[in-house]
Amino acid sequence: MRDQLEGYLVLAAAAFRQVRRFWLGVHWVAERAVEWSPPVDAAQVANRLAPTVLDNIEAAALAVDDGPRTNPGPWCDRCSYRSLCPASHTQRWEPVYDDYDPDD
Ligand code: SF4
Repeated sequence: MRDQLEGYLVLAAAAFRQVRRFWLGVHWVAERAVEWSPPVDAAQVANRLAPTVLDNIEAAALAVDDGPRTNPGPWCDRCSYRSLCPASHTQRWEPVYDDYDPDD
């Protein structure tokens, strides 16, 4: 959750350039409470958080550019794509040997 809030903080700092200090808050609606972080200076946002957020965005974009990645596991039994998925074929199907001789 902290990464998400820091992303919002970088966006807020870009939109409100006159603000010098920010607080991150989580609103717990059911409990009618807000939990606040310690203050973060605009310089910390620019020097530390913004580069980290941009690195994370770049990494996410590269992951998308590489194409979807499989994550085989027991859940493959319920997956609608298992007949198309190469990882599922590797994990689930037994190899068939054409040179099988029952008399051996
Ligand atoms: S069958 Fe392939 S796409 Fe489906 S859950 Fe398994 S690894 Fe993922």
